[in-house]
Amino acid sequence: MQQLIRGRVLGFHADPNDTQDNHRYLEDGAILVEDGRILAVGDYADLAREGLAEIDHRPHLVMPGFIDTHIHFPQLQVIASWGAQLLDWLNTYTFPEEARFRQQGHAPAMAEAFLDLLTDHGTTTAVAFCSVHKQSAEALFSAAHARNMAMVAGKVMMDRNAPPEVLDTPRQGYDDSKALIESWHGKGRQRYAITPRFAITSTPEQMEMAGTLAREHPDCHVQTHLSENRDEIDFTLSLYPQARDYLDIYESYGLLSDKLLLGHSIHLRPREIARMAETGSRAVFCPTSNLFLGSGLFDEAGLRAAGVVSGIATDVGGGTSYSMLQTLNEGYKILQLRGQKLTPLSAFHWITRGNALALGMADQIGTLEPGSMADLVVLDARATPAMALRMDRAETLEQELFILQIMGDDRSICQTYVAGKPMKKHS
Ligand SMILES: [Zn+2]
Repeated sequence: MQQLIRGRVLGFHADPNDTQDNHRYLEDGAILVEDGRILAVGDYADLAREGLAEIDHRPHLVMPGFIDTHIHFPQLQVIASWGAQLLDWLNTYTFPEEARFRQQGHAPAMAEAFLDLLTDHGTTTAVAFCSVHKQSAEALFSAAHARNMAMVAGKVMMDRNAPPEVLDTPRQGYDDSKALIESWHGKGRQRYAITPRFAITSTPEQMEMAGTLAREHPDCHVQTHLSENRDEIDFTLSLYPQARDYLDIYESYGLLSDKLLLGHSIHLRPREIARMAETGSRAVFCPTSNLFLGSGLFDEAGLRAAGVVSGIATDVGGGTSYSMLQTLNEGYKILQLRGQKLTPLSAFHWITRGNALALGMADQIGTLEPGSMADLVVLDARATPAMALRMDRAETLEQELFILQIMGDDRSICQTYVAGKPMKKHS
């Protein structure tokens, strides 16, 4: 079945940091969708025809759905927990909360709530850490599969420095990850990410197992954390005294590649940056989390100049909003503190095509190229009275995007389409 989605259509085909010719904007545009995929994009007048089902989102902007490249599924009820930095925050709030995912029925209920929150905020694909329990990843994959929503996810592997309720063993972590890969990786739109939480919570034996999984499944992503906080770095290096630096731990177990997503990547040494560039390993910027936990200021321009590809992400529940718009808002401010700029075009490129490129999934998501999945978001830059007043003075697309970037949140999301299907109940 075909459907025409009409609106002010915006999509990116190149990085605004690299070229002026980076986006296509159609004032009265339309996206022709068939069986969940984009068939064509163009002016409404060229695509409209008698008898074709259509939905009119004018005067709103229609663009590819947002992609969140680092989020913790079991932390829905941890977000906004007071007063700690990383290691205290994990021990005081996060590990006890993740322990609840052992309970029957908890993970399936949370999975539905999690996916509703993502689409209510305009996010159509997320890269998620699950709890240590196999059933948490099972629950997330099966809920996402039922919605035909692309998830990249994995159960965390962690076998030390946390309460026993959230620990596995090297063998259990391997076996559970392997079973999940076999059931879910490549099933519909689901993809598996091998997920050693971070070096502090994995023994060398477990890191070895993670490396084995990565070698056995080179098509899977690998996700973990790197150099978020100074105390974390010191503790990590004390646990791996032979390592040249933090990245060297992951390197020595064979985890560095363009499938590796390194959450935070803030306090890096020159050797680490050079190795990330050489191996294609991705940095993931988590601005609301980095400010909330007082972790530090990500060096976007420095990493880009060195040739490192970066994603941007919420990191809920260390992050404080599910909104990729609010993530851009805080990201803009962090880069201001570093004397760097985040232009509105670069910002919206980043949360769509840029994150898709970081995941190696730009042939499926993040653009409006024919053949891509019809994962779309419809944005209203006049969603609140304050935004409407500000918009009365906006004259260009870039100004409108910047208002969305700074003032927008879930109230600006009129509708979210996943594989051509509207997901927002109240649009
Ligand atoms: Zn994280």
